[in-house]
Amino acid sequence: MGVSPDTANGLFCYICASRIFMIYNDFSFENTEIAFAYKSDAELKKARFLFQSMDKPFLVKWGIRLTPWAIRWKLPIRGLIRKTIFSQFVGGENLEQTAPVARRLAAYHVQAILDYGVEGGNNGEAGFDQACEEFIRVINYAASQPNIPFISIKMTGCARFELLEKLDRSLDQASGSLMKRYAAALAAFTEEEVAEWERIRSRMHKICEQAAKKNIAVLIDAEETWIQDPVDVLSIQMMAEFNKGKVIVYNTAQLYRHDRLAFLKDMLEAARLKDFVLGVKLVRGAYMEKERARAVEKNYPSPIQPDKESTDRDYNDSVAFCIDHIEHIACIVASHNDYSNLHAAELLKQKGLAYDHPHIHFSQLYGMSDHITFNLAKAGCSVSKYLPFGPIEDVVPYLMRRAEENSSLSGQTGRELTLISRELNRRKMKNVQ
Ligand SMILES: Cc1cc2nc3c(=O)[nH]c(=O)nc-3n(C[C@H](O)[C@H](O)[C@H](O)COP(=O)(O)OP(=O)(O)OC[C@H]3O[C@@H](n4cnc5c(N)ncnc54)[C@H](O)[C@@H]3O)c2cc1C
Repeated sequence: MGVSPDTANGLFCYICASRIFMIYNDFSFENTEIAFAYKSDAELKKARFLFQSMDKPFLVKWGIRLTPWAIRWKLPIRGLIRKTIFSQFVGGENLEQTAPVARRLAAYHVQAILDYGVEGGNNGEAGFDQACEEFIRVINYAASQPNIPFISIKMTGCARFELLEKLDRSLDQASGSLMKRYAAALAAFTEEEVAEWERIRSRMHKICEQAAKKNIAVLIDAEETWIQDPVDVLSIQMMAEFNKGKVIVYNTAQLYRHDRLAFLKDMLEAARLKDFVLGVKLVRGAYMEKERARAVEKNYPSPIQPDKESTDRDYNDSVAFCIDHIEHIACIVASHNDYSNLHAAELLKQKGLAYDHPHIHFSQLYGMSDHITFNLAKAGCSVSKYLPFGPIEDVVPYLMRRAEENSSLSGQTGRELTLISRELNRRKMKNVQ
């Protein structure tokens, strides 16, 4: 057992076996009664079974390979998916099915970020227009609810991946600031490509405009590095237009990239120059293996940090940077890392800022890290669950990322299993007494 230097700040972190336990002056993430109060015994047992299954590398490996294929070939596995991994990580197949889940979270002062789970759409322009209309429907619905202040979107839901990739490549080849490179890259596009890009811009604009009208924030997800530059450009343009005084648009920074802390600082510069409030969601990043494999295959330096410690360092430094500039930055700490969440809470306290300061928000994915979400909510933090919904075939890529993230290889499953088992035992003992 070792004691970290953070003890001086009231944050006690001690390592016991392979688990890290943290206790903070105002609250603890160890309280499983608070963490799982919203789940019945039957639901907890179901979750335990699912995490036990994801603890088997063989099952996860083949599940990830075979599920997308089985869905494509319309094999009868939808029922099984719906009852297992889907119900753990997804709100429902449509908005109506998702509404009761969001209401249940509200009862525990947990907000929801609605995420219409379409990504990498392949239904052409009509499909992208349809997705845009669905995003607007989600915004209108969110505005009618007391606890849904955000929606989340993926640019690949309303843009052709290959076009984003081509624009990203052209941006890489040009020199100067991101906006200068953008102008140069567009100049090299054909007339049709410019028109297609304009349609993407117009969809994003329509979404952000409606969000501003309804006072709902739009979180733009970060995706693969080879399409990310156009996503960043468009996000910054939307922030410059809609984040005047209030924060409607949030871009995402993936701190597993070694260049993102510098990018965060550049975005703040841009925000100051153009007089808008920077909205940023901080994540570590979900595509690490894919990024590394592509860099090897195509023989370019990996955009990913050399090790986990470097990712953690940049993540926690980014949290500190945002809180240091909280007048100009609205930040979402989107993480399942105990330390990063407590670090943010600790910094707020040190600076005398309220846990529910309008420029700080915490968020975890639905189905994961309830011990963080519900304990933060109990302590008065502004916190949400990222709640995806959509037809099973559309959310399969998301579900496969969750399976991978929760497999025994990443170590997440052990943590979820320990906490769920502990809560089930606590309830059993209480019933015996
Ligand atoms: C609300 C919310 C929104 C999200 N939005 C996005 C998004 O828009 N885009 C996106 O990509 N992801 C997104 N994510 C997913 C997120 O990136 C993963 O959940 C996250 O990577 C897991 O990290 P963690 O902060 O929970 O902490 P941890 O569990 O402590 O960290 C795990 C992460 O650390 C990084 N890592 C692990 N090993 C190494 C290594 N050897 N070298 C370098 N880095 C390493 C990886 O990113 C890995 O996923 C979102 C998550 C949440 C909660």
